[in-house]
Amino acid sequence: MIPKVIAISNQKGGVGKTTTSVNLSVGLAMRGYKILLIDTDYQASCTVALGIDLEYDNKSIYAALVGLAPIQDCIVPSGRKNLDVIPSTHHLVGAEIELITATEREFILSEKLEVIKPLYDFIFIDCPPSLGIVPINSLVASDSIIIPLQCEFFGLEGMQMLLDTIKILQSRLRPELYVEGILMTMFDDEAEFSRKIMALMRTEFKDEVFDTFIPRDPDFIDSTASQIPVIATGKMDSIGLKAYDRLILEFLEKYNLRKRKRA
Ligand code: ADP
Ligand code: MG
Repeated sequence: MIPKVIAISNQKGGVGKTTTSVNLSVGLAMRGYKILLIDTDYQASCTVALGIDLEYDNKSIYAALVGLAPIQDCIVPSGRKNLDVIPSTHHLVGAEIELITATEREFILSEKLEVIKPLYDFIFIDCPPSLGIVPINSLVASDSIIIPLQCEFFGLEGMQMLLDTIKILQSRLRPELYVEGILMTMFDDEAEFSRKIMALMRTEFKDEVFDTFIPRDPDFIDSTASQIPVIATGKMDSIGLKAYDRLILEFLEKYNLRKRKRA
């Protein structure tokens, strides 16, 4: 399977899902790839991080999922070249209830995405820290999943639950879904537990862990306020920028390897 739709998921909050979604999307768009970023967190962190107005109640992932508008009408420009966004709104909380009785409710996003897939090289889905019907829709619609994992003691919490969920999805709803990679985030070189967790993950999950890891860098916190993603700051000495740049190269390398294997 050559991945086009990639979910960034982990049901734990604050592990770097949104940061990874935004920096990967913006970085790949800067390299000329046509990117769609779908924000499926009702807290709309991606939408906010990119400085997109939250006025689009009828142009949002909520509107698309509940059928208020065709999904192609829910796409808004990000203001950055090659990058479109389907924003989120707090209404998305309601979708969890509104979709309970929908038929084939796990496949709603997957079916809708078919229409717009040809427009993009990659579609990233920033998932919320939960596993309700909206995130399940995101995973079912995806070809692969990137799992950001915080290099902290409690980072491992919930990891097994997510892997079990992926297994259930693979056996029942989405056999082709695979783990693109586990991304170690907020790595602190000076903390022994950070190094220990990284080593443990590499022993346990081997090739499934990206070679690239993201160090802890205060620039990420500044970028939330400035609404300029670290990857787009042009600060070439930024360790955060360098790390996401390396991640993009590793992602593209894996992608091209899959393409060559297919050919
Ligand atoms: P999630 O989407 O998983 O909840 P976020 O990407 O929003 O996580 O990150 C949570 C917080 O941590 C944000 O304030 C973000 O700016 C910060 N952050 C993310 N990655 C890093 C990092 N590598 N170093 C320092 N802070 C980070
Ligand atoms: Mg988030």
